[in-house]
Amino acid sequence: MDRPAYAFAVDTAPDDEKPWYYDIKRYLETQEYPEGASKKDRKTLRRLAMVFYLNKDGVLYKRNFDWVLLRCVDDKEASQLMKEVHEGSFGTHASGNAMVKKLLRAGYYWMTMEAQCFNFVRKCHKCQIYADKVHVPPNPFEWAPVHISGN
Ligand SMILES: [Zn+2]
Repeated sequence: MDRPAYAFAVDTAPDDEKPWYYDIKRYLETQEYPEGASKKDRKTLRRLAMVFYLNKDGVLYKRNFDWVLLRCVDDKEASQLMKEVHEGSFGTHASGNAMVKKLLRAGYYWMTMEAQCFNFVRKCHKCQIYADKVHVPPNPFEWAPVHISGN
């Protein structure tokens, strides 16, 4: 029950097991485009591939703004990394922003990392409990319900 929903989506992916960077990597390796790619798709892929770097061992990196190379990870590794950086070694539940920063500093990258980190926090059961407590008014007697007129 603790497993985030996207992990299910990844595990039960019906058709292909290709990582998100499959087309980019293949293009850098072979200069080939995906089958049926339109002219626009090809242009997008070419432009996208410019910020990636494939080393001679076949490891794909993304060039960050400061030219630091970030290793591209697939969905499975991304899920593990998110769990690690979110819960941390002290059980501190990092925010989505903090998670992204930690991952970048550690040298990891995947296309949807920002959205997935925020999603991870939203789906974290412990974070939900904590968030609920934060929103409880400190003194219930000071809390006045908003009167909704109409009905
Ligand atoms: Zn959490």
